[in-house]
Amino acid sequence: MKTLLLMSGGLDSATLLYKLRKGNYVEAMYFDYGQTHIKEVASAKKICADLGVRLHQCKLPAVFTDSALIGSKPIPDGEAVIVPNRNMLLIASATAYAAQNDFDAVAIGCNSDDGIDYPDCGRMFLTAMAKSMRFCHTRPIELLAPFVWDDMSKVDVVGMALTLGVPIEETWSCYKGDNQPCGKCAACNLRNAATRKNHWFTKHTNI
Ligand SMILES: [Zn+2]
Repeated sequence: MKTLLLMSGGLDSATLLYKLRKGNYVEAMYFDYGQTHIKEVASAKKICADLGVRLHQCKLPAVFTDSALIGSKPIPDGEAVIVPNRNMLLIASATAYAAQNDFDAVAIGCNSDDGIDYPDCGRMFLTAMAKSMRFCHTRPIELLAPFVWDDMSKVDVVGMALTLGVPIEETWSCYKGDNQPCGKCAACNLRNAATRKNHWFTKHTNI
């Protein structure tokens, strides 16, 4: 199966890349939607380069105007930062590219925990997108969201990452783009809780 993976540079998408490349041809796509820092694209580039995976970089139109991730307000400690309807745009854009370039599927690394705070990561949304992708073109494009379909938590994803040999230390989850992860934002909290439960630590785990 020829698959186009949405690659953020984070732990989930990196794990999905390692999982999918076993038996599939995979290319990755990174979207610039106005994020204020460049840490995650650097992670995406490094992870893909190490595997010899082609990484496409795309810039979305400036439709996002109200999210801390694009700098319109400060990033709060410990609170989910939502970019409204981001995944519909990312999936739809990747699907357009996939349809023109003979891909069979688009893949996204949301896990089952994400849907609690981020509606566009949840099973209901992804199921609806998957259905749309069967009818949006003259041939169906499949949506792969295995961590959601298989009800895998962030802890489960980290466990899979360790099994697959994903270089977790090269992934970037923090909402902020400082030299080191802040250890306080919601993304750091989720990541650190999940890595800790898997007994994986670095000096940046902030335990
Ligand atoms: Zn952080």
